[in-house]
Amino acid sequence: MKYCSHCGAEVSHRIPPGDNRERFVCDRCDTIFYQNPNLVAGTLAVYQQQILLCRRAIEPRLGYWTLPAGFMENGESTSAAACRETREEANAEVTVQQLLSLISVPHIDQVHLFYLARLEQPQFSPGEESLEVALFSEADIPWQEIAFPTVSRTLKHYFRHQHTTTELPCLTDTIELTESLNRLEQQENIKQHQKSASRQTS
Ligand code: ZN
Repeated sequence: MKYCSHCGAEVSHRIPPGDNRERFVCDRCDTIFYQNPNLVAGTLAVYQQQILLCRRAIEPRLGYWTLPAGFMENGESTSAAACRETREEANAEVTVQQLLSLISVPHIDQVHLFYLARLEQPQFSPGEESLEVALFSEADIPWQEIAFPTVSRTLKHYFRHQHTTTELPCLTDTIELTESLNRLEQQENIKQHQKSASRQTS
């Protein structure tokens, strides 16, 4: 940020008195602008052992599959946010059952959390941010085309524990920058390989 949203003066980036981190501070009215991680909430919604996935119509990761999820709004609970995002992206009504994963992504200042939810009816359609919405059984999950590492990790965690008769354990984890980059590179290589393979056959 460049200007103070209170008085319009320029802000500087410095450690305020009594603090130990650099913040944006207004040089005129001394307002300190704290920036904190954003929460992303979503659902892993199940209908007859199949999982609801959305193919993204927006960047980042346009065309890749994801669990319905998005940024929380102020004044909202995490489970309400997860249900709202599921409604917006997949036009689907779900009942939240339990928290399934809580994953920090420190290099982009985000925390992602996914709830296990029940899709009561097989009714869904693409919302504005989705190209396509579909149910996938475990064998059909498009692992090479999953948009985000937090989504693959949550899916794997679910499949590992799905037959637990009591409450499933909640996965708590962290995605490191190097892992994120390696994953992108792998997916890019696969895409290039598929392109050259289809050129050779056509
Ligand atoms: Zn100011």
